[in-house]
Amino acid sequence: MTMNNVETSIGSERGRGRPPKIRSSEVYGRAEHWRGVLAQVWDRLWPLLSNARSEGEVTNAFQDGASPYDSYFVPGLAALTLQVLRESTLPKRAQPLQRFLADSLAGVGVVTPRRSRDICAQERAKRASVNRILRYEFYVECSCGYCGRSKNHACPKCGAEILFPVSIGSFMS
Ligand SMILES: [Zn+2]
Repeated sequence: MTMNNVETSIGSERGRGRPPKIRSSEVYGRAEHWRGVLAQVWDRLWPLLSNARSEGEVTNAFQDGASPYDSYFVPGLAALTLQVLRESTLPKRAQPLQRFLADSLAGVGVVTPRRSRDICAQERAKRASVNRILRYEFYVECSCGYCGRSKNHACPKCGAEILFPVSIGSFMS
C-alpha cells in the first residue's frame, strides 16, 4: 500500500490537544489482519525475507513469498520492513516474529515501529479488560399470557419469538 491510503484523523475533531496522527483502533485492526496474512504465507515468505539485505530484496521477497498479499507491504513499506528486521529485539520464533512484524508495520511509518507496537499492545490490553455482554434478554408481555423475562429472545412459555425491527435485527443477528 502507499502512504496515500493511510487514513488520518482530522485535526479539529478532538477539540483540544495535539491530534493523533493515526487511529489506535486502525493500527491494531491492521496489525491483527496482517498477522494472519503473515502466518498464512510464512513458510514461503520467511526463507526469502530473512535473507533480504536491501529494500529491493525485501520487495522481491514479499512479491515472491507473500502473493497475493504483497501489495499490503511493498513497495511502500519495504524500507520500514528492513529497519524492523534489523531491530535487536526481533523475536526468533515464528509466531512472536509474525506478531512483531505485523505490530511494527501496522503504523505504516506514520508512527515509528516502536510506537506502533506500543499502540497495538495498549489496544490488546484494552480489549482484554473490557467486559462484554455475553447474553441479553428482554422483559416481554406475550399474548399467551406470559409476562416476564424472554428466553433466547422468545417467550419461554409458548416459544413466540421477539420480532426485532429490521434495522436492529440486521445489527443483532
Ligand atoms: Zn407466549
